[in-house]
Amino acid sequence: MSMTVIPQADPGAGYRAQQAEIDAAVARALASGWYILGREGEAFEQEFAAWLGTTRAVGCANGTDALALILRGLGIGEGSTVATVSHTAVATVAAIEMAGAVPLLLDIDPDTYTMDPDELVAVLEDPPPGLPPIRAAIAVHLYGQACDLDPMLAACQAAGAALIEDCAQAHGAMLGGRRLGTLGQASAFSLYPTKNLGALGDGGVLATDDFELADRIAAIRQYGWKERYISSMVGVNSRLDEVQAAILRVKLTALDAGNERRRQIAAAYDAALAGGPLSPPARRPDAEHVFHQYVLRAGAWGMTRSDVQARLRNDGVGTGIHYPVPVHLQSAYAGRVPLGPAGCAETARASQEVLSLPMYPELTDDQVGHICWALRNLAG
Ligand SMILES: *Cc1c(COP(=O)(O)O)cnc(C)c1O
Repeated sequence: MSMTVIPQADPGAGYRAQQAEIDAAVARALASGWYILGREGEAFEQEFAAWLGTTRAVGCANGTDALALILRGLGIGEGSTVATVSHTAVATVAAIEMAGAVPLLLDIDPDTYTMDPDELVAVLEDPPPGLPPIRAAIAVHLYGQACDLDPMLAACQAAGAALIEDCAQAHGAMLGGRRLGTLGQASAFSLYPTKNLGALGDGGVLATDDFELADRIAAIRQYGWKERYISSMVGVNSRLDEVQAAILRVKLTALDAGNERRRQIAAAYDAALAGGPLSPPARRPDAEHVFHQYVLRAGAWGMTRSDVQARLRNDGVGTGIHYPVPVHLQSAYAGRVPLGPAGCAETARASQEVLSLPMYPELTDDQVGHICWALRNLAG
């Protein structure tokens, strides 16, 4: 029997769900005759900051640049170390090196896949020898769930280091009733098409309550200009274009409902997994997850991850792996980037076992029902 496979991600579905509004927004941006840093971009920045709860948001070309721009804006580059994790999109680590700093890669808590705060406390108190001073930590709220942020914030504050939130997978997520992206010095969001808030091309936005930092970064993103054609500081080119900004203004209106739908789908998967060989993902108490990804740990009851993947595919369910090789084991980084004292052992184990189920708001009830059937089938 042949069966169409439900894809693990489907960015086209998000476009189709709001097609008439998005098409109208694109037509408006095209007709305006102004394509870079104009009214749509300004309106998106204001609407995004209002939605998030910061005083400022600054659009840029992508999420990687958002992180690098924050570091540059804070003056963190050559002669600085920035602590983060190896179990993340390579972009997090690439951004640190783009800014000129040294990444220090720490291990994760195996249940939530986010930075082990104790290791951050340890390296801030007793920095590894031979590294420049640790001037910042990038907290990655992976898969849509908050890091254990409070001890990390306290440790950074005590050490005089900045805490930057990588919210590329956590648009709308909360911790203790507070919205992620409002808790550190600044936060970076990717607007890549598959993210919870996705453009139809590349895009990024960063947010902060620090007006001076926002102004500095707004200049750095365009050649260091405060005044046109005059660079008052060294900058780059990293702008969000008007067409993407217009699209994002439409997409932003669907973000909260989309996150709610993701949580509903996650609850259905939880129920289908109950009593079976694979456990649902752990939820941090006090955190509101936005399920950028719904991630299982495969490899229980004698089934390897590739067994689980093959059986689900046979049953018409696509899966993904986020991420198959930790950053510190990729050839561009291996043996070159420093690791924390824990040596990223849990990171290496997670990379062998994680498996992501289909997750996007446009999954139909029938598709979710089918995926749940396939999950129950794993136990049989
Ligand atoms: C997607 C992502 C980024 C980078 O975003 P781009 O827009 O692709 O540059 C950074 N960090 C994490 C955790 C991501 O998932």
